[in-house]
Amino acid sequence: MSFANAPLVIVGAGHAGGRAALTLRGEGYSGRLILIGDERHPPYERPPLSKGLLQGRVELAGYSLCDSARLAELDIEHLAGNPVKCLEPQRHRLQLADGSWLHYARLLLATGGRSRRLASAPEHLLNLLYLRTHDEALALRVVLQPGTRVVIIGGGFIGLEVASTARVLGCTVTLLEAGPRLAGRVLPEQLSSVLLERHRSQGVDVRLNVAIEAVQGTTCVESVKLVDGQLLPCDLVVVGIGMQPNTELAVAAGLEVGQGIRVDAQLRTSAPDIFAAGDVCEFRLHPQGGFQRQETWRNAEAQGRHAALNLLGGELPFDAIPGFWSDQYDWGLQIVGVIANTQPTTSRATPGGGFLLFYLDAEQRLQGACGWGLGNSVGKDIKLCERLIALHNPLSMDALADADVPLKQLLRN
Ligand code: FAD
Ligand code: NAP
Repeated sequence: MSFANAPLVIVGAGHAGGRAALTLRGEGYSGRLILIGDERHPPYERPPLSKGLLQGRVELAGYSLCDSARLAELDIEHLAGNPVKCLEPQRHRLQLADGSWLHYARLLLATGGRSRRLASAPEHLLNLLYLRTHDEALALRVVLQPGTRVVIIGGGFIGLEVASTARVLGCTVTLLEAGPRLAGRVLPEQLSSVLLERHRSQGVDVRLNVAIEAVQGTTCVESVKLVDGQLLPCDLVVVGIGMQPNTELAVAAGLEVGQGIRVDAQLRTSAPDIFAAGDVCEFRLHPQGGFQRQETWRNAEAQGRHAALNLLGGELPFDAIPGFWSDQYDWGLQIVGVIANTQPTTSRATPGGGFLLFYLDAEQRLQGACGWGLGNSVGKDIKLCERLIALHNPLSMDALADADVPLKQLLRN
């Protein structure tokens, strides 16, 4: 049976899924296009959820990829609040929560992820909050009031950005991290240290190497009990202990799945005519490298766009340079390329008390760089680093370390 005349279907109306739908129309695809989501909103970007939205500086319309009117104008059928429950790759069809079946010609899985739950925190407690969706961010915004005693569990990006926002809003903040340093799996020691210093100087009680026994309360959270017996009374607990990719649909359908839905260089899964993109997908950054997932805005944006081109029959390998950023207080962290949580090869100071860290390979070619500085002060240098990474030329370590040598000059050389 041929499915060539069936619609193109995207499962997951988040960032990658939304970007793919818009790209398909942008590229002139005029057939039936269905975007299926379990949230009730049109596709939106998540970075403002822990920053501008919590501070009341931006609302959903400001970070939506498009609104309902635009989806209708583009004839993108958005099935909201109706998640896909079952996928049958051999029959090119899927089933929605409302029981209906849909055939597809080609399918994109962009199901992202959900917040990892803390086992020792009873789910029924009021003011025990997680942060992944717009609706969860709105619920958190209401309770982040001056004087609220917040305990944040997890010193990764959710924890750090919420801590920063909560302090700006006048809350009392305690942050509990299980590991010996902040964002220690992702960031090098220097960055963990400056983040620790910044948060402590802003009044956050940051505690490292902490083990939590239980989040306690009857109807509402009242305290967090640590394994060493300490009791931390609080009005609100925010848990940010990582993301769990939504791979269940793919696993049940028999697709190859590792830490995420496994794709080849063209973002094709192991099943015919099914692609995957964004947080949920596991791919090789380099042909010889291992499989990895990227949980970043930039990856969702690039892979959503890229998958759309290949859904249309393209054979383009995905080889975008990765990167991400984080804003905390009035400081910004920016990363481009591949970095490690180990010592950089070399570094330089930047004006205003910031710095750049550089990661070189054995041939002295730039693989990745991190910048830390006030506002967007390292933004320009990080863009230049991206160009240096793409250029793939050996660089002088001395020149990289010398703050008086503009990075632009290295590009020219
Ligand atoms: P998502 O945006 O999660 O979209 C997946 C969608 O699919 C969701 O709506 C999900 O509910 C839906 N779905 C799942 N299963 C089904 C199903 N069976 N049927 C239908 N729909 C389904 N990155 C940065 O680089 N910088 C930042 O500053 C930054 N800040 C962030 C702040 C927060 C609070 C969060 C949560 C993330 C942040 N990120 C940031 C990460 C970035 O937002 C994600 O990497 C990006 O959203 C991933 O996009 P995605 O489309 O893969 O997944
Ligand atoms: P994350 O960045 O993976 O960080 C989770 C942190 O929680 C880690 O430091 C982890 O320590 C710690 N942790 C785990 N279990 C714990 C426990 N029981 N008690 C205390 N600490 C514990 O995940 P996240 O901060 O929850 O973010 C979720 C998703 O949103 C990720 O995909 C993230 O990339 C994304 N996000 C990104 C940004 C950004 O890029 N700016 C901002 C917000 C959110 P160990 O590593 O030692 O386990």
